[in-house]
Parts: sequence; C-alpha cells; structure tokens
Amino acid sequence: MSLIELTAAQLRDGLAAGRFSAQEITQSLLERIERVDRSVGAFLRMSPDAALAQAAASDQRRAAGRCLSPLDGIPVALKDVLCTAGEPTTCSSRMLANFVPPYDATVVRKLREAGLVLLGKTNLDEFAMGNSTENAALGTTRNPWDARRVPGGSSGGSAAAVAARMVPWAIGTDTGGSIRQPAAFCGTVGLKPTYGRVSRFGVVAFASSLDQVGPLARTAADAALLLEVIAGPDPQDATSAPVAVEPYSRTVAEPLESLTLGVVREQFGAGLDAEVGAAVERAIGTFQALGGTIREVTLPHSGYGVATYYLIASCEASSNLARYDGAHFGYRTDEAAMGRAVADQQRQQGADAADDDGDSGLLRMYRQTRAEAFGPEVKRRIMLGTYALSAGYYEAYYLKALQVRRLIRQDFDAVFGQVDLLIGPTTPTAAYCAGEKLDDPLAMYQGDLYTATANLAGIAGLSLPCGFTRSGLPIGVQLLAPAFHESRLLRAAHHYQQRTDWHTRTPELS
Ligand code: GLN
Repeated sequence: MSLIELTAAQLRDGLAAGRFSAQEITQSLLERIERVDRSVGAFLRMSPDAALAQAAASDQRRAAGRCLSPLDGIPVALKDVLCTAGEPTTCSSRMLANFVPPYDATVVRKLREAGLVLLGKTNLDEFAMGNSTENAALGTTRNPWDARRVPGGSSGGSAAAVAARMVPWAIGTDTGGSIRQPAAFCGTVGLKPTYGRVSRFGVVAFASSLDQVGPLARTAADAALLLEVIAGPDPQDATSAPVAVEPYSRTVAEPLESLTLGVVREQFGAGLDAEVGAAVERAIGTFQALGGTIREVTLPHSGYGVATYYLIASCEASSNLARYDGAHFGYRTDEAAMGRAVADQQRQQGADAADDDGDSGLLRMYRQTRAEAFGPEVKRRIMLGTYALSAGYYEAYYLKALQVRRLIRQDFDAVFGQVDLLIGPTTPTAAYCAGEKLDDPLAMYQGDLYTATANLAGIAGLSLPCGFTRSGLPIGVQLLAPAFHESRLLRAAHHYQQRTDWHTRTPELS
C-alpha cells in the first residue's frame, strides 16, 4: 500500500516498526501534492524544504530512541488562520498577505513538541467567513470529488487536502460549522471540540465566543489522536477550560456503551435534500444495529439558530477586525498614491473639498486600507456587526441574539438530560457548484442550519462520512455531544467506521 493511503495511526505503527521513515512519508506526500494540488488548490503555501528537514530531524530522534511522541514524524497541514512563527499567516486575506507572526499558536507549538511535521498552510474563506472557500482572496480550492464543486468552508483547504490524500490529517477551525461542513462535503471526519477544549491562543480571531480549533482526519481514531495532542488548558487563553484531557486515543476503541441517540425532529424538515436525508436515516439504522436506542427529541429554538449565529458572529467580527487599520501590521494603502488622489481632488473641487467629511489624513488612511484589503463578505460582516452593535439597535439585535442564544443552549441542556448523543445531517445538501450561491448570501448562510447551534451552545460536534449521492458526492452525518464528552462522540464515530467503509473511498484525481 502506498504511504499516502495510510491513516495517521497506521503511519505511527509503521514508523515504530521501522517499515518506513518520516522522510519517506513526507516525500510521498510532497509528490502527491505536486501531482494533484494543481486541480484541487488545497494549499496556500508549502514549505517542502522545511518539512523535509523536520522529517530528517524526526528520523534522527527515532534512531537515537528519543522520539518526542508516538506521532513523531507524521505530517500535518494547518489552516492558514493559525499563527506560525516566521512563516506567513494570511487568513487568505489581502489584509494579511504579507503578515509573518513572531510566535506560534499554542496548537502549533503543541504539534511541534509532539514532533509532527508541518507540511504547509491550507486555504480558507477570508478570515474563516464562509461555507465554500469561495471568499478566499489568495487561492481557489475545489472539491476533490468534483472539480466543478466547492469543498465547503471555511476550512475547505484542510478538508480537501485530507480527502485527496495529500496529508493524513489537518487542523481547522469551526465558528459555525467550518470544520464539520467541509468535512461533510469532502468525505472526511471533522471534529469541533467543546468551546474551551483547545486553546485559541495564536488563532486569528473571527468570533471569540464561538471559535474553536479541531482536527480533520479520515478516521475518528485519527481525530482522537490529534485532539489528544492539541487539547488542554492554556495559561495564554483565559477561555481555555481547566478540564483534564482524556486519553481519547485509548477510549476511542473501548466497547460502545448502549447509547441513546436523539434524532432532532426539526432537522428532518424543509430544506433537507432527500438523498442526504436518506443516507442519514441509514446511518441511524447502523447505530441501532450497534446497540443504540433511538429517541425522537425536539430543539424548539433551533429555527432561530442561523439568524442568532450571524448576528453574534458578525458583532464579534466587527470588533475583532477593528485591529486591521493599516497602522499596526498587515496591509497599508499606498499613501503616496492616496496623497496624489487627494491633491487631484482638491485641485478639481477647490482647496477645502477633500476634507468636507471631516476626515483627517489618518482616518483616510484607515478607510482606504480597509476598503482595499477586505473582501466583500468580510465587509458585509463588519457592516452588519457594527450596525447591530450601534446605539439604538443594540437591544433589538445583539442583546436579543444573546437571549436567543441562551434559549438554544437550554434546549440542548434539556435534550442531553434524555439522550447521550444527537444524530442528524451535517448539511442540508451535498457540495454545490462553485458560483451557485455567491450572489445570495442568505442561501449560503442556510448551509449552517445544523451546525451553528452547537457553537452557540458551546457543545462538541463531529461529522463523519455516511454515504454518497447518486452523482458521487460525499454525505456527512453529524453527532453532537454535551460539553467535554468528546470521547463519547469519537467512540461512537469509531464504532460506526468499523462497520462501514464510506471513509475508505478515495476521489479519483489525475
Ligand atoms: N459558515 C459560517 C460563517 O460563514 C461558519 C464559518 C466558520 O465556522 N468559521 O460564518
């Protein structure tokens, strides 16, 4: 079997048995990327020399009996929203196209400390805002199963890279579905851990009360391995939870307790594609065959999830993105050109005209910088968020959204008193064609129907492959668990994957 086909767990075992070296793994993946990433576009940036050097160092450690961890030498890809010291971190935005952070995100530091090889940075919707990776300003990513279609988003590059066997696993972030939705569209596993389970230090902020980092992998067992590396409290992130990390990689394979799975009535209503619904029904049947009890439950406020999410996420984004002003870091407009334009305007309209709106030169520079470097979706979110936070609208929009968020959280608390996990579709449809929803943001936002509520409630969620449409596109089933019950989630997913082979299929790529 070729090395690119192996899961991370298989690579770990092969490295331990001396069947191949870390350098051979990295070399195989680099060749694979060279061959197929032209048509997929998963990576924004590769660092082949650095990766090979890390792999060589890993081989030396192993030969000396000084491995940093059992995963030492296994490559991983990072969504380009995680800061990497000395390496550009762009968020696929023109604003940060030349930004080189001086430090590593905590997650990146933990990966390095475990000896993983950092293969490259993957594409995303600009600042992680989107569901198709079409909002990316610095690259175009396509679905490995059908190049006319989107990979999902915003962690589209990470999902596509894993699905196309360019890397065994990758790191993504999920604010309203950005790990689970692309995982569903590309046919991989994607885990959004509980809010606070993984440190956000050094992860470029989108919506700080919702953002969470997590793994994309081919199997739940691999996701468990990776979560174990990245999870845990962090003194540099006050919102990381002081909750001990469980040995997920061990508990994942333990026998499956007899679980009660809740099927949310609201998730099988209008908007759900019939083929997706049928595949999810079959997955529910498989869980029954595994000993699960199915119970119908209701989340009465879930219909408000998308609106609530977009208000809160946009409000937080408008505040988080205020720091991109052209003065501190990142892009700055060409001030000489701006000065010339102002002088021209003054000549044309008379000396005082250019300052009619009261702008100082500094304000003009801020404005011009942001106008030039943010893409249309990011601007839309900043405007929406600023509006909803402004005096006179705050109570009607932001405050109201916070109140509904509480109700949504209470809905989950109530159902998790009756069931161990929830099961349903990850997305209303399979991957759609590029361009299909670009002009209709509200249609695009509906893609978060089943995922965003988990972020609002802060609970854990996972998507795993459960079938294909007639046209050959992957379908994802979503499992949700109460906060800090990742091990239950991963174990259920693992046992499902022991029974099914959806996750073993590979897209055909030339
Ligand atoms: N699709 C959602 C949005 O556009 C979620 C994005 C995310 O999870 N980062 O905001």
